[in-house]
Amino acid sequence: MTLKTMQPYLAVHVIGDKVLQTSAAPIAEITDQVREMAQRMIATMLAFNGIGLAAPQVGISLRLVTLGVPTRGNGNTPGEAVLLPQMPLVLINPRIISHCEETTMHEEGCLSVPSIYGHVERPSVVVLEALKLDGSRLVIECGGLLACCIQHEIDHLNGTLFVKRVISDEQYEIRRKADELKRRYGMMNYIRTSP
Ligand code: ZN
Repeated sequence: MTLKTMQPYLAVHVIGDKVLQTSAAPIAEITDQVREMAQRMIATMLAFNGIGLAAPQVGISLRLVTLGVPTRGNGNTPGEAVLLPQMPLVLINPRIISHCEETTMHEEGCLSVPSIYGHVERPSVVVLEALKLDGSRLVIECGGLLACCIQHEIDHLNGTLFVKRVISDEQYEIRRKADELKRRYGMMNYIRTSP
């Protein structure tokens, strides 16, 4: 007899892995398989204490992200008012359809780039279009940390890590640290199995 053990969370792929540099494919249909993947990604995001996770980070090259942005402050855009109380939230085929000129700087980190943080400047407010897990379509204006997180996760779907976007003053140091991570995780096939 064999005992099948179901890991509650998935392994996270780390900088250096090709899947993180690849543009992910759109999801054509929300099947049971997609719903199960979303649930396991939420479990993974929570286990690793992340506030967002994109499917390529668990080795799946599809356009799906999970968000677990904290509700602090609540913000002043419709997106923050509506979406923050719905966390953890699943977004399918998300895209930014417009953004404001004004930018905000946040210090970002990423489960795929463990222990490295850097400042990134991004549009302060974006209009997000996405499908929710129930198939309903969402078009909503988002600001604050939510806007930052959405842009960071959509970058993952396009094969871009935040380290490429850190402000120029921090570029040298972040590249040095990222190279060190790639060497270390290269010996483990760029896989991180525990938080
Ligand atoms: Zn990330």
